[in-house]
Amino acid sequence: MIQSPAAASDKVPLVPISLPKAEMHVHIGLALSHEVFLRRIQKGRTPIKPDFLIDRSLRYYDDLAQHHATYEQMRHITRTPSELAQVTQDYLERIAREGAIYAEISSSFRDAKNFDAMTDAIEEGIRCARANTGIEARIVVTAIRNMGAPHAEAAARHLAKRPRAFVTGFGMVAEENLDAFGDYARALNIAWHEAGLGLAPHVAEQYVHNAIDFLTAVPAEAFRVDQDDPRRLRAGHATLIHLSSDLIATFAERRICIEVCLSANKRINLPADTRALRPGDTVTTPGGRTQRLDLPLRTYFKNLHQHPLQAFVAAGIPVCLGSDNPLLQNTNIGKENSLAVKSELTDLAGALMMTENAIRYANVDMMTRLALMQKVDLYRTALRAKQAPSATAHGYQRAFDTI
Ligand SMILES: [Zn+2]
Repeated sequence: MIQSPAAASDKVPLVPISLPKAEMHVHIGLALSHEVFLRRIQKGRTPIKPDFLIDRSLRYYDDLAQHHATYEQMRHITRTPSELAQVTQDYLERIAREGAIYAEISSSFRDAKNFDAMTDAIEEGIRCARANTGIEARIVVTAIRNMGAPHAEAAARHLAKRPRAFVTGFGMVAEENLDAFGDYARALNIAWHEAGLGLAPHVAEQYVHNAIDFLTAVPAEAFRVDQDDPRRLRAGHATLIHLSSDLIATFAERRICIEVCLSANKRINLPADTRALRPGDTVTTPGGRTQRLDLPLRTYFKNLHQHPLQAFVAAGIPVCLGSDNPLLQNTNIGKENSLAVKSELTDLAGALMMTENAIRYANVDMMTRLALMQKVDLYRTALRAKQAPSATAHGYQRAFDTI
């Protein structure tokens, strides 16, 4: 029997489970536990072999295409509504034991018929996990860029017609260089104005030109929301804005929250044309906008000490964390927090600040935001008084952490 790394997570985490955490970027369909994953392999539901769990080199990807190919080979391991409900509940309960008080989970829109049944399942998973652990969660519906802008508009229109209790955000995923981010302005506007959703699209994980278009494709109102408006604007990844001090300054000035996904950045290499960028180069968007780059590319693939997280924080950009693809990168939001500390990108106070940013930029109603923020405030007070608790905010304790 393979001893999976998740089952054997017997290390005391660098960020204690008592520190409240928020999972702000996770594709839920493949957030399976290793035990369930092995059962799916046994049933022939994926050509991926169990080695995947123990050979860490198999979880590094030379480019995003290779990552997506692995993703596609695995996609059908979560196929039915009950499987999706199970993975949602399991993952939320797992991260609640790591100290997570909130999660905003992504689910892709492929077609309307399938979408409604699958979203019912995710919502049921959220309800059950909340009842069992106290964790709050919401859903970001993501349009797949490979399916084009009209498909994203259809997704946003569907959400406008069929509002749902837990769907509070809209985003976009997948290939960043097949078309222009600007092509999605209409979809983003429908999502914001007609569906009443917050926005959290993937931006400039692989190609920096997406960040240039992002600033104009997003409805202007999203940059200046009232505090009692439940909607927020965040950018998924946005790591490549580190190439331009102008982009960094603009993101800081507009207080755009960035979802940093360290394991994804560590394990998925950048495309060759992005790796070739140098200070002095000018990047042009498909629509003709330009941005001169003035900062060197950081090589954080396999070396997170180079990651720009600290530079973003120092510039005043609100940063939160996400684990992106837990199974593909063998992670969860507890591990992402510890990884940030291990890579010397933050300390405990910084980790707590990232949770605070997450709650401030969560797509939730005001009462939920206040209740979540109270948990952060309480922990900060306890930390200052050197009386950090040994249990999570919801009272879960783990024997080996304290011995
Ligand atoms: Zn993602």
